[in-house]
Amino acid sequence: MSKVMLVTGGSRGIGASIAKLAGATGYSVAVNFVRNSSAAEEVVREIRAGGGKAIAVRADVGEDGDVQRMFAEVDDKLGKVDVLVNNAGILGNCRVEDMDAATLTGIFRANVFSMYYCAREAVRRMSTKHGGTGGVIVNMSSVASRLGGLAGGSHYAATKGAIDTFSLALSKEVGGEGIRVNTIRPGLIETEIHDVHGGMNAALAKSVPLGRSGRADEVARVALWLASEDASYVHGAIVDVAGGR
Ligand code: NAP
Repeated sequence: MSKVMLVTGGSRGIGASIAKLAGATGYSVAVNFVRNSSAAEEVVREIRAGGGKAIAVRADVGEDGDVQRMFAEVDDKLGKVDVLVNNAGILGNCRVEDMDAATLTGIFRANVFSMYYCAREAVRRMSTKHGGTGGVIVNMSSVASRLGGLAGGSHYAATKGAIDTFSLALSKEVGGEGIRVNTIRPGLIETEIHDVHGGMNAALAKSVPLGRSGRADEVARVALWLASEDASYVHGAIVDVAGGR
């Protein structure tokens, strides 16, 4: 039986790269998306074409009911989740003095509430306390949590700070129940998330100590390593994948 990995936001960018690498590594992969069904189906198609097993699952991970339905669907179609990659997230571009309640709530729902809802469902299935056999949770933060993010990104940076702290707290809560929890903090990675700022900032990319922006697959390889037995004693850690930023 292959292990089951659920990648939230697996339709595009970093999540799609993680989902494809997981499929090629032998995981049965649940590719979550919220809007872009064709992108999710393309990821699934690629995994299946390589001989792997995958399904696309629509759910707004910022909505508790959607998350419960998503996990039930994965239980039915692939089996209990062994690895949860809490990757889905949105960026914003709004200065503090222009902020409104809907924008602020929206980004915290998508980036933070989503992690909590998905981690809860995963722990219910993985924890030895609940009859599970353990598992791995990888949470996607950002270097914005320690750098403060780009201009107009204070709300985004604050969500990522919350993720770092939640991840650490979760690792302490469930580490003795067979669940490893770790966090990845990517730096500037080439994906469509930067469209809200008009695309990747080339000058900023050059200012990274390695002299360039990163690629989604460079984050994906770290996620797969954290999920694997090679990282069996890595727990409660934050791994920066940021080219030295
Ligand atoms: P992206 O290319 O914009 O892709 C975002 C993914 O998240 C898409 O699959 C999207 O689904 C999904 N998504 C967004 N909101 C969702 C929701 N409410 N429910 C379910 N799925 C949702 O983003 P990315 O750059 O790969 O970023 C992935 C993660 O890495 C995020 O948490 C981001 O904060 C973090 N990160 C990225 C960078 C970077 O430079 N790219 C740097 C640091 C951290 P649809 O296709 O359906 O829209």
